[in-house]
Amino acid sequence: MNGLLINWLMLLSELFESLRKSPAANANFKITSYSMKKYLIYTAIVFYCFSLQAQVAKTGNARIEAIIKKMTLQEKVGQMTQVTLAVIAKGGGGNTDGSLDQAAVKKAIVDYKVGSVLNTTAHALSVEQWQSIITQLQDEEKKTRLNIPVIYGLDGMHGQTYTLNSTLFPQNIGMAATRNTALAKAVTKITAKELRASGVRWNFAPVLDCGRQPLWSRFPETYGEDVYIGTVMGATVVKTYEEDGLKNPTAVASCMKHYLGYSAARTGKDRTPAYLPEVEMREYYLPQFRAAIKAGAPSIMINSGEINGTPVHASKYLLTDLLRKEMGFEGLIVTDWEDIIRLHTRHNVAASPRAAVAMAINAGIDMSMVPNDFSFADLLTEAVQKNEVSVSRINNAVRHILTLKMKLGLMDNPYPEPAAAANFGLPAYQAVALDAAREAMTLLKNENNILPLAKNSKVLVAGPSAQSISALNGCWSYTWQGKDEQWYPADSKTILQAITDKLGAANVITSTAKGFDAADNYDTGKLKAAAANADYIILCLGENAYAESPGNIMDLALPEEQVAIAKAAFATGKPVIVVLTEGRPRLITGIEPGMKGVLMAYWSGKKSAEAIADVLFGDYNPSGRLPFSYPRSMGEMVLYDRKPSEEIREIFNENVSMDGYKPLFAFGMGLSYTSFSYSNITLSNTALKGDDKLSVQVTVTNTGKIDGQHSVELYSRDMYASITPSMRRLRAFQKINLKAGESKTISFTVGKNDLAFVNAQLKTVTEAGDFEIMIADKKERFHYEQ
Ligand code: BGC
Repeated sequence: MNGLLINWLMLLSELFESLRKSPAANANFKITSYSMKKYLIYTAIVFYCFSLQAQVAKTGNARIEAIIKKMTLQEKVGQMTQVTLAVIAKGGGGNTDGSLDQAAVKKAIVDYKVGSVLNTTAHALSVEQWQSIITQLQDEEKKTRLNIPVIYGLDGMHGQTYTLNSTLFPQNIGMAATRNTALAKAVTKITAKELRASGVRWNFAPVLDCGRQPLWSRFPETYGEDVYIGTVMGATVVKTYEEDGLKNPTAVASCMKHYLGYSAARTGKDRTPAYLPEVEMREYYLPQFRAAIKAGAPSIMINSGEINGTPVHASKYLLTDLLRKEMGFEGLIVTDWEDIIRLHTRHNVAASPRAAVAMAINAGIDMSMVPNDFSFADLLTEAVQKNEVSVSRINNAVRHILTLKMKLGLMDNPYPEPAAAANFGLPAYQAVALDAAREAMTLLKNENNILPLAKNSKVLVAGPSAQSISALNGCWSYTWQGKDEQWYPADSKTILQAITDKLGAANVITSTAKGFDAADNYDTGKLKAAAANADYIILCLGENAYAESPGNIMDLALPEEQVAIAKAAFATGKPVIVVLTEGRPRLITGIEPGMKGVLMAYWSGKKSAEAIADVLFGDYNPSGRLPFSYPRSMGEMVLYDRKPSEEIREIFNENVSMDGYKPLFAFGMGLSYTSFSYSNITLSNTALKGDDKLSVQVTVTNTGKIDGQHSVELYSRDMYASITPSMRRLRAFQKINLKAGESKTISFTVGKNDLAFVNAQLKTVTEAGDFEIMIADKKERFHYEQ
C-alpha cells in the first residue's frame, strides 16, 4: 500500500509539473490531459485498494477471512456453539475435580467442533485444575483440521468467582456506593489477572442492567438505580479489563450484559417480561451499553427475558438495527443460558426448535450458550441447508467469534500462560479488597453519634449474619449461589470474628451459631439472656447469598423471624446497632425507629467483616453513599430521579403536597464521622451556548474533627422540557479526601450532553431553556441556548 501511495504522489507532482511548465494550458493540452488521465486512473486504483484494505480490517483481517473460506458449514456452526463444562466433565454436573471425560471431549471438540466452553460444575476449582482443563481442550483442538482454539468463558462478577482462593470484592451495588472509579479500576485489574491466571480469557461481566426494581434478585449485581453511576462505572470496568491489550496476560475480554431491559421485569422475578416504552428504555437502560461500546467492549450477552412481548433473543430490531447499526457494536453477541431453545419451549414465539434457532441467528445472535447438548449445531446446519438462515449471516457470526479469539491471542497461543499464573493471589490484592469493602460501607443512621463505639465496650453480636461468610459475599462466590461456605478461603472472617479480633474475646458475647440459618440465630430467649452483660447489641440482619431465580422473593419486607429478633433486641433496653448484609433493600421501616445506628454493608466480599468492624469501632471513617433509594414500603417505590408529578400527593383543590419522595433513606445518603459543608458555588457563566462548556466550582470543607473521604455530587434539573423532566439527575461525582478542617475547591465541567434527555422522537437532545445545578444544599441557575 505504501508503494501505491508513493506512486500516486509522484503522479500528482508530474501533473503539477506539466501544468506549471505550460504557460498556456491550451498549448500543452495534450501533455496535461495525458497526465491527468494517468493521474485519475491511478487515483481510482489507489482508492479501490484502500477501500479493500479498510474492508478487510473492518471484518477482522485477512487471516480470519482465509480461515472462513476454508471452513465447512459444520465447522462454522461448531464455532457458534458454546457448551457447559458439565457436558465434557467426568460425572457431568456433579463433577467436583474438573476431570474430563475424554470421549465427551472428543465428541465436543473433534466431532462437533465447538468453539466455546463455559462455566464450572459443582464449585470453584484450583488454578491448576483450570489450567489442566484449558490445556486438555486446546490439545484436543489440535486434532481438528483447522486448529481453531476454544474460547473459555466464566462469570467473574465481583472477583474471579470460580477459582479457589481468588479475591472477592464488593458486588457492583457496593462498588457503586464507593463512588470511586479508581477503586473500580484496581478491583477490575485483579479480577482480570486472576481469571487469566486460571487460563481463562473471557469474563461474562460487567452487569450493566440498571437496578430500578429492588425486588429483582440480580439487584446486587447492578450499580443501582442511577444511569450515570452505571454508565461511568461500567465504562471504567470495560476499559480496565482491556486496556493492557487483550493479548497481554493481565487482560481479559469483558462481556457487557444483559442487553437489554433484563432488570426492568415488571414483577421483579428473574427472567420475566418487561414492558418498556422505548423512550424509557433509551433514557434509563441503554446509555450504559452505549458507553461500554464506546469504551471498547468486545462482546455482549443478551437478556433472557422479553420486552413488550418480543424475546430479546428474537429481536432483530434490538440485536441488529439498534445494537449493530445505530450503536456501531462490532463485537461478539452471545446468548444467555439456553435462551434460543426457550424461544420455542418458554416464550412460544417459535413453533419448533429449528425455527427458534433460525429466528435467533437471523435476529443477530453469533454464539449460542446452548449449553447442555449439541442440538443447536444440528438444528442450525439444517436451517442453513433449508435456506432459513443465509451462509453470509453464518460467516458474519463466525467472523465475530474468530476476531475475538484473534484479539485475545488465542490463535497464536491458546494455552495457560506462565506469566499470567504468576499474577494469582498476590498479598497486595487483600489490601484492595479491604479498601473496596471499607469504601462501600454506608452509614445510614447514627443517632446522637452513638458510633463509633469505644473499643473497650462490651458488645453482644447477634443476628443471622453474625457468623455467616456467605451473607457477606452473596452470589457468584465460589459457587453460583454463593451459599456453600466450605469453598471460601480459610482466612475469611465472620463479623463476630472481626469484632472479637478488635475488642478481645473478653469484650464480645454472642447468642448465635455458625451459618445464616442456625436456629440459635433466631432464638429471642438466648439473645435476651446474653444481652444482660453487654453495653451494646450489634445486630447483623439481612440476606443470605442467592443468585438469579433462586433469589426471587414474594415480599421485600425483612423476614418475620428477623423482625422478631430485632424486637427482642430492642426490648432488652440496650442500644441496638444494626448491620445490614444484603443484596437489595429489605424493608425495615417498622423496626427502624428502635435502631440507634444502621450500617449498610451490602455484600462486600472477602474483607466485609473487617470493614464492618473498622467502621463500628472507628478505625475507618465511612464514606459510602447509597446508590439507590431505600424504600419505605412496597407502595412507595419512587426513585430519586422522579418526575414532578410523581412527587405530588393529594391532588384535590388547593390541597397539594410535594412530598411523594419519601424513601426510608434517600439515594445518595451516607453519613460520616466528620461533617462537610459546602460554600461558594459558582458557575463560569449564567448562559451556556451550543457546544460550549460551563465550569462549576464549589468549596467543600471538612468541618469536623477527623479526616474523611467524601463524594461530591453534582445534579442538574431541566426546568421545562418537551418531555416531563426529572426533578434531579446525577451528572458527575468526585471522591475526595479532606483532612479535619481542610477545604478544597472542586471543579466540574458541564456541557450540553450532560443535560440531555430522550425526547418523544427518541432522539437524545438538549432543549434550550433554564437549568438548575445542585450540589448538596447549594443551587445555581443558568440558561442554555442551542
Ligand atoms: C446468567 C448469566 C451468566 C450465565 C453463565 C446465566 O444464568 O444469567 O449472567 O453469565 O448464566 O453462567
